[in-house]
Amino acid sequence: MAGVVLVVNAGSSSIKLEVFGAEAALPSLATLLFEGIGSRPAMRAKDDAGAVLVQRAWEADGPATHRDAFGEVMAWLGGFLGARCVEVIGHRVVHGGADHAAPVIVDATVRAALANLVTLAPLHQPHNLAGIDAMTALYPAVPQVACFDTAFHRGHPFVADAYALPRAMYDEGIRRYGFHGLSYEYVAHRLAEDFPALAAGRVVAAHLGNGASMCAIAGGRSIDSTMGFTAVDGLPMGTRTGQLDPGVILHLVSEGWDTKRLTRLLYHDSGLKGLSGVSNDMRDLEASPDPAAAEAIGYFVYRIRRELGALAAAMGGLDAVVFTAGIGENSPTIRAAVCSGMEWLGIEMDETANEAGETVFSTPASRVTLLRIPTDEERMIARHALALLARG
Ligand code: ADP
Repeated sequence: MAGVVLVVNAGSSSIKLEVFGAEAALPSLATLLFEGIGSRPAMRAKDDAGAVLVQRAWEADGPATHRDAFGEVMAWLGGFLGARCVEVIGHRVVHGGADHAAPVIVDATVRAALANLVTLAPLHQPHNLAGIDAMTALYPAVPQVACFDTAFHRGHPFVADAYALPRAMYDEGIRRYGFHGLSYEYVAHRLAEDFPALAAGRVVAAHLGNGASMCAIAGGRSIDSTMGFTAVDGLPMGTRTGQLDPGVILHLVSEGWDTKRLTRLLYHDSGLKGLSGVSNDMRDLEASPDPAAAEAIGYFVYRIRRELGALAAAMGGLDAVVFTAGIGENSPTIRAAVCSGMEWLGIEMDETANEAGETVFSTPASRVTLLRIPTDEERMIARHALALLARG
């Protein structure tokens, strides 16, 4: 019986797991979300058709750590899998540092190297590593593959990779790494399969979810990203500032703000939530009559349009724009607001196709092709894991 590929995305208080059949087509068998680790734990899994496979919630005495939560997840999974075995486990790891331009099988040396990167991504990397450790303890004989959000961007030219800081800092790793790489890599693969002429050209992909960024992809390779040293730079996001003059931070430090308070401000209290005072969720903002909600949307759209021009300039032109992730896939309003009045850049949107959520929503005459492509980072990780397993 064919085995399965597990894909694990361990966050600060949640674990996402997807189970794929270990075959070339990678059929999705189940997706599981464990939320509320450390507060009100709850677990829910569905099959590919959306039918609920398990739903559980605990009171105060429930699983309190990632290890405990993984124990619950695996206990359920054992029953779900029956006689099928786990062949390989792929992990989403936010940071691969300067050295990892591709996924790797995790051994003691790799584990130590990834732990060294915790200071670069303190909000995510420790949880990703906890996921690897928990799965290694539960499945010591199964290969664990780390797939990095930074890897797709490692080929950036120096001008896109560096800050104008003293050179030694670049050598020490203070660089513009870029993130959402697994999403962009998936988009690049989809383009290569379905739109090979565009895949060979100059594409701006916009990953617009709770986290948001944009990527310039030329000839299938990332050449620049709006995100930099951390995932707080670039576009405004649900609760993150996006690009901010470092002088603001210096000012706040001189006013006595410490790291903890600044981190809260930059990562949790800003972005759409901070600007609107209404919500971090685009659906709430689109439904809100509050003028501040409309202003927050206007700010989000303005920054996307500015970056679109900048990334097109970085590539010396533009052949396609891809919208993906929660907002990019589901909000025709945001897509229209980004694309309207962009004829100067060769963009002509087909309003009906956009409203209908069609894959191609530019007019036949448009010089730039507009595309809506749902992302699938988990599938990208599963592909990498299976490919590394095959290579041995
Ligand atoms: P994450 O970065 O957490 O994976 P998602 O990619 O799921 O986030 O995107 C979440 C965002 O997508 C939220 O702002 C949500 O409001 C937005 N979104 C989802 N569906 C819609 C919709 N139909 N219209 C507008 N925004 C939507």
